[in-house]
Amino acid sequence: MPEGPEIRRAADAVNAAIGGRKTIAVYFGLEHLKQFEPRLSNTLVKSVTSHGKAMLTRFANGLTIYSHNQLYGRWYICNSGESPNTKRQLRLAIHNRKQSALLYSASEIEVLDENEIEQHPFLSKLGPDVQERTTGIMLILERLTSHNFRKRQLGNLLTDQSFLAGLGNYLRCEILFVAGLHPAMRPCDCNIDQLTLLAEIIPSLAQQSYATAGITNELQRANDMRQKGVEFEQYRFHVFRRAGEQCYRCGEKVLKITAGSQACYLCPRCQSME
Ligand SMILES: [Zn+2]
Repeated sequence: MPEGPEIRRAADAVNAAIGGRKTIAVYFGLEHLKQFEPRLSNTLVKSVTSHGKAMLTRFANGLTIYSHNQLYGRWYICNSGESPNTKRQLRLAIHNRKQSALLYSASEIEVLDENEIEQHPFLSKLGPDVQERTTGIMLILERLTSHNFRKRQLGNLLTDQSFLAGLGNYLRCEILFVAGLHPAMRPCDCNIDQLTLLAEIIPSLAQQSYATAGITNELQRANDMRQKGVEFEQYRFHVFRRAGEQCYRCGEKVLKITAGSQACYLCPRCQSME
């Protein structure tokens, strides 16, 4: 599933195509949303932003399209009159004079007013977004040590969108590796140096992934590997999806375990329980 950095990049691209421009037509593939088509046509798109793994397309008339891509949803940007070569089902199309933003396969699409956004069951429970500059080290440290979260295993806690919005499976594995923490450890098992380092790494790795379109490995190493002809999927991560391969730091074999009902990758030497 795409994580916060991927959704933020998709929101940037959609915003560049339709943000600040008037629509000429809006189409919904889901029957119950068709009633909104006339109200969103010939209307200014104020902004397109990401919130964790969700996206909000705000219109000047107060309505907002909420979309969550889940596993299969995918945005395409096309020039007016063109469409992508895909067998996916079109769920939402926002057209202006020059371009179209097309969302395929996503099943979670809603049209909301301001009140409904505030009370939305998913949006209202989201923690601070890791892509936002306001989500700084002190705020994360406060949450890690708070009553609600301090006794939760890190492997489980990091992907809980009410703790922080935007972290998914690859980011959690990579963050815990860089922080040298085992996924079974809880914030209350860590000393203040470990917690501070973790609070630094969470936003910095999420932002690095956003800036590099998905690289959480050390950039120098990733660059060296790329120049040697290594494929993107092979050089982008420290440990994620590298079970059985050698840890770049210590040479130990990367392990795959289950944490929070998802596959979790770690180095047993770099991420001991102490
Ligand atoms: Zn290691």
